[in-house]
Amino acid sequence: MATGNINVSVENIFPLIKKFLYSDHEIFLRELISNATDATLKLKHLTSIGEAKIEYGNPMIEVKIDKDNQTLHIIDQGVGMTADEVEKYINQIAFSGAEEFIEKYKDKNGKDAGIIGHFGLGFYSAFMVAKKVEIITKSYTDAPAAHWTCDGSPAFTLEETDKKERGTEIILHIADDSTEFLEENRISGLLTKYNKFMPVPIKFGTRTETLPKPENTKEEDPAPTHEVDNIINNPNPAWTKAPTDLKDEDYKNFYRELYPMQFEEPLFNIHLNVDYPFNLTGILYFPRLGQDMNMQKDRIQLYQNQVYVTDNVEGIVPEFLTMLRGVIDSPDIPLNVSRSYLQADGAVKKISSYITRKVADKLNSLFNESREDFEKKWDDIKIVIEYGMLSEDKFFEKAQKFALYPTVDGTYFTYDELVEKIKANQTDKDDKLVILYAGDKDAQHAYIASAKEKGYEVLLLDSPIVSHLIQKLESEKEKVSFVRVDGDHIDNLIKKDDEVISKLNDEEKESLKTVLEEIVPKTKFSVQLEAMDSNASPFIITQPEFMRRMKEMSQTGGGGMFGMGNMPEMYNLVVNTNHELVGEILNTKTKKKQERLINQALDLARLSQNLLKGEELTAFIKRSYDMIK
Ligand code: ADP
Ligand code: MG
Repeated sequence: MATGNINVSVENIFPLIKKFLYSDHEIFLRELISNATDATLKLKHLTSIGEAKIEYGNPMIEVKIDKDNQTLHIIDQGVGMTADEVEKYINQIAFSGAEEFIEKYKDKNGKDAGIIGHFGLGFYSAFMVAKKVEIITKSYTDAPAAHWTCDGSPAFTLEETDKKERGTEIILHIADDSTEFLEENRISGLLTKYNKFMPVPIKFGTRTETLPKPENTKEEDPAPTHEVDNIINNPNPAWTKAPTDLKDEDYKNFYRELYPMQFEEPLFNIHLNVDYPFNLTGILYFPRLGQDMNMQKDRIQLYQNQVYVTDNVEGIVPEFLTMLRGVIDSPDIPLNVSRSYLQADGAVKKISSYITRKVADKLNSLFNESREDFEKKWDDIKIVIEYGMLSEDKFFEKAQKFALYPTVDGTYFTYDELVEKIKANQTDKDDKLVILYAGDKDAQHAYIASAKEKGYEVLLLDSPIVSHLIQKLESEKEKVSFVRVDGDHIDNLIKKDDEVISKLNDEEKESLKTVLEEIVPKTKFSVQLEAMDSNASPFIITQPEFMRRMKEMSQTGGGGMFGMGNMPEMYNLVVNTNHELVGEILNTKTKKKQERLINQALDLARLSQNLLKGEELTAFIKRSYDMIK
């Protein structure tokens, strides 16, 4: 038997390991299973090239809990190690890796602990949960089996043993503060989290399987059962296969496998597959998103060679695509670095722009294949597309071909089609195209109706980020401006050449304004007199585009003016001086009646902008009943 000290200069490294990876203790299991998988795949390789002259067979990895002895076992049938290899790979190299790791992150107060914990410690992460670790291993060569033991101090023992079968068994004597890892539920939870798609079958206990009833058995006889290995993983997940080998159904099944709690089917998927200049495979799914921008539960999962790493893909996948679901698998993403480093990394940047391009191409081909189908999906995918147009210039460019602008009547235009259409019936003086839109078909109904009466198209733009998007379009495109239908009276939004002549003279206007301003609350409305068609409404409440948009933008974050979100709502009261009722207000002799007319007309205007609520609404209704009784 050999004893010795592990090659280490940092005194007592184990407490450090514990401290630094505190939040991520559970990753020890993934590390050990990764090693077992590596060892198995190495053997597969060696047999395939004739280097190891043995039958590869169907090796699996077994995870076993021994409650009586307080141990957890990870057993593989891979290459195994000779005593010399244990000396070299475990005592020397592996530990020096751990040492370097601790050295590097000693000063960082766990700031990036999340990602640091992902990889880097390997075998020694076992000491996060074990007070003593044993390795019993038999190499695929004829060298005798070896037994290594270490109790968490730099001292170890290494002796010969008589294990017959090829492979390695790691035995963890679980520490008193880590007994959770002796619980079946905890371990099976970890196995599903980290190892669900690893390439070698992983056995955890057995399960009972019902067999078909043999013929001539009675109805009441129970079906026979037998115990089978409980394999917790799917070693050949869909993303590792060629897209040509997969049917639509296979993609849907894989989605269910990934997100067993998701009952809705995805809209479509994108299979990613590159091997140059970096390696990346994966499948992204577009879920039905609707208006919801904060889908946090079922996120894109990042794998490295089928080992689960994280579901925080920030920095690797462009932000607007983090709303999608699915997996990406790449050995080329550096993991033991901080997020900010990740974002500056050249390879990662390429990955991110590759993904963006693939998504844009897919959307484009869906659009071209069936525009009708694409239009049907638009409401569910627009958030991602609009968000992408805002945040990635490359995507903005590509999206010109498939981004849609629906009208309130359900016609979908591309931007070019829209401009073409609007040009045909707009002859604005300063040839700037005005694009009318509504944010809510019901709330802005009256305004939409008067725009349509004039023959204008009105878009329905109702995503939460729409104010940002139109701001972007106005700055990228030439000579267009977007205005919401309730931004002003329609004849002011789109200027016509023919001016309407006012029925009132300047003096009359002056006194009308005085009367109105006495009664209409100044803090809420600013009165604006306009000579309009006599059959247009007498009072119209509008909200100037610029102010409203800035306010919305600061509420949805970024882009807007600082502090705008807290400003009170300000409206204009547009009064049609050519309307009969307005003439009557001006000419009414008694103050009382004048006041009544103004208040009633103002309330009606508020009602059509959905601004009349609570006490004021009650008073209005009462007043209206009194009028008709
Ligand atoms: P890494 O896996 O990154 O090489 P580890 O610390 O996880 O680092 O493992 C160190 C080395 O120990 C491995 O490279 C391998 O040579 C050896 N090793 C660990 N576990 C096993 C195993 N189950 N079977 C064979 N060799 C192993
Ligand atoms: Mg390892």
